[in-house]
Amino acid sequence: MATDKSDMSLKVREAAVELFSRQGYDGTSMRDIAKRSNISVANLYNYTDSKETLFWTLMKAAVEDLMHEQREALSHETCSAARFVVFAYTHAKHHTTHAREVVRLGNTPMESLSPDRADKVRAVRDEYEGMFRAVIGEGLKDDFLKTDHYVLANRAILQMGVGISLWFHPEEVLTSESVANVYAAFAMAIVGYDSDAHDRTCAAGTECVAATTWMKWAPGR
Ligand SMILES: [Zn+2]
Repeated sequence: MATDKSDMSLKVREAAVELFSRQGYDGTSMRDIAKRSNISVANLYNYTDSKETLFWTLMKAAVEDLMHEQREALSHETCSAARFVVFAYTHAKHHTTHAREVVRLGNTPMESLSPDRADKVRAVRDEYEGMFRAVIGEGLKDDFLKTDHYVLANRAILQMGVGISLWFHPEEVLTSESVANVYAAFAMAIVGYDSDAHDRTCAAGTECVAATTWMKWAPGR
């Protein structure tokens, strides 16, 4: 039976994710990827023009997938504190289920890439960081979040979430949801969430996801 080109392309991508995550970008050759995909090296070049292009395609798809999840989650919330909470929650939850793609690909040393590609990888990461910065900015403007360190808070929260993928396993006693909730509450503490200011002003009051998350999962409770 002839293999459909899109099936094969998927197989190549899966093989590359697996190998890049296990052996690192530098430690993976086109020969390794071809072997794992059960095709010849010559045939592999029908799917990609280089290892770097393949890496870039996977990296971009991983970040775009995460940004899509964030836009979808944000679209349901109007309160700025709630938007902050769902962003932090979605970021953490995503990293309980996407260990291979985001962490290992995302941590590939930039010096392995051509300057042009490295710039593109940085740009796509900056876009994601910028999305979160805008969300934090809305919360600060509303006085629901209070921090002078929002740039570092942004990076600290994102890195903390990415770190979940280093230790989280599906058989973990904690569920994805409980980890994501606790991390969202940690994130709220990092940006100085003011529950009194929020509950006084937010139209949803204590029914808002920011209030319920803080009530249930705030550090120290
Ligand atoms: Zn609210």
